[in-house]
Amino acid sequence: NRQVRLARRPVGRPDDSTWEVTSAPVPQPADGEFTVRVEYVSLDPAMRGWLNDVRSYVPPVGIGEVMRAHAVGRVHESRHDGYKEGQLVSGHFGVCDYAVSDGSGVVAVDESLAPPPVWLGALGFPGMTAYFGLVDVGRMKPGDTVLVSGAAGAVGSIAGQIAKLSGCRVIGIAGGPEKCAWLTDELGFDAAIDYKAGSVGRALHAAAPDGIDIYFDNVGGETLDSALAVLRKNARVVLCGAISGYNATDPQPGPSRYLSLLVNRASMTGFIVFDYLDRFPEGMAAVSEWIRRGELVTREQVETGGVEAFGRTLNMLFDGANTGKLVLKTTTD
Ligand code: NDP
Repeated sequence: NRQVRLARRPVGRPDDSTWEVTSAPVPQPADGEFTVRVEYVSLDPAMRGWLNDVRSYVPPVGIGEVMRAHAVGRVHESRHDGYKEGQLVSGHFGVCDYAVSDGSGVVAVDESLAPPPVWLGALGFPGMTAYFGLVDVGRMKPGDTVLVSGAAGAVGSIAGQIAKLSGCRVIGIAGGPEKCAWLTDELGFDAAIDYKAGSVGRALHAAAPDGIDIYFDNVGGETLDSALAVLRKNARVVLCGAISGYNATDPQPGPSRYLSLLVNRASMTGFIVFDYLDRFPEGMAAVSEWIRRGELVTREQVETGGVEAFGRTLNMLFDGANTGKLVLKTTTD
């Protein structure tokens, strides 16, 4: 049972010295528990934040602890009435081969609807983040012009499609021509802007001459500033994440154009998907139905190499080396 533990808190970008891979016997479940053979681990930008010893929406991962991660696996041995051996489940099992669970936070995975990696993407937290970020925080309505950054990633690719399916005009921002072509050619975005290719501000004025109603922000930084410049009256900025600053070692400057919020009577609201757990059935029903009808494209990038590959796979998020949901397969079969 290999486990990836936090060896040292990183300053800036995590590296090999951040992680330690240890080995332990396969755990035995106590009464009311079951063990899980972890098969797929989710890679999330938020993991970088969990490594910092600061007050946040969850406590930091402790030094020496198994790295926290959402994962899909199969029940290995069960002493819990609700779970049978061989059953596929998702939960916060951590970066390891085998985990013990009492069932809290565990969701049954229905392979007939979608393969396991999708349950870490569109049918997992990223999908729910996209859904509640738009529907609830963004108060999306048909006819809105919606701008999404990090648009070719796990959350962004689903957010843009949900906005399209809800009758909005959608513009995506992503890094590189391939990602941008994917957004417009396969996901149905109305326009895509490659932020690495030139001025985002100019491209935005061209793509949204009348401005935007919602900015679903995954990246922060200069892109946020450019988006603020094109807000319409009563616009909603949905603060989902700000990955451009997650590895920064200095405090990040605030958006210089924030007065646009005042001029446009706009709002900027942060949210955490965990606060919507009691409404997940609504979001899951909507996303499942779109998948069933073949209207929502899901894309998962499955990396291999076992739990040992966790550190380098996590850094792929910060290099933009993923399209869609990044997942690590932990089994070798
Ligand atoms: P993604 O699949 O979008 O992967 C991260 C992507 O971010 C990369 O592929 C890369 O795409 C882009 N990126 C990396 N560095 C930069 C940079 N410096 N500037 C601009 N873009 C960059 O990850 P997720 O979909 O899992 O997460 C997206 C965002 O949503 C994150 O900010 C995350 O923290 C947030 N989040 C928030 C939640 C909440 O409850 N509020 C829940 C889940 C996620 P590219 O090639 O386009 O640069």
